[in-house]
This record gives sequence, structure tokens and C-alpha cells, in this order.
Amino acid sequence: MYCPKCGSQDIVYGERGFSWRNGIIGSLFFGDHGFLAGFLGSRDIVYECEDCGYVWKVEE
Ligand SMILES: [Zn+2]
Repeated sequence: MYCPKCGSQDIVYGERGFSWRNGIIGSLFFGDHGFLAGFLGSRDIVYECEDCGYVWKVEE
């Protein structure tokens, strides 16, 4: 497994359980309940490159 951007092999495999960006954006528009928007679109299995920070989805 290589990073498609920089070719590094320092790859982290993980599951995106919660999107802080979505939660923060949601809370700005909808208050506390909007924070739950962070759970929308979660559970994506992703790889992340530790060298350049590039994140890409796992194709299954
Ligand atoms: Zn990289």
C-alpha cells in the first residue's frame, strides 16, 4: 500500500467514526442538535498518509 500522492508507505488505516468538521458546521447553523450532523456520512473506511496527510477512501 502506497500513498497515491507522495508514494509513502506510512499509511494509517482507520474508520472515520465522527466528522468534527461536519459537527462544528452543523452546530453553527443548528445549535447543539446540529452537532449531531457530525455523524452523517461517518463510518467511511479510510487510509491516511502520515507523511503528507492525504486521505482517501478504501475501495471495496
Ligand atoms: Zn502521502
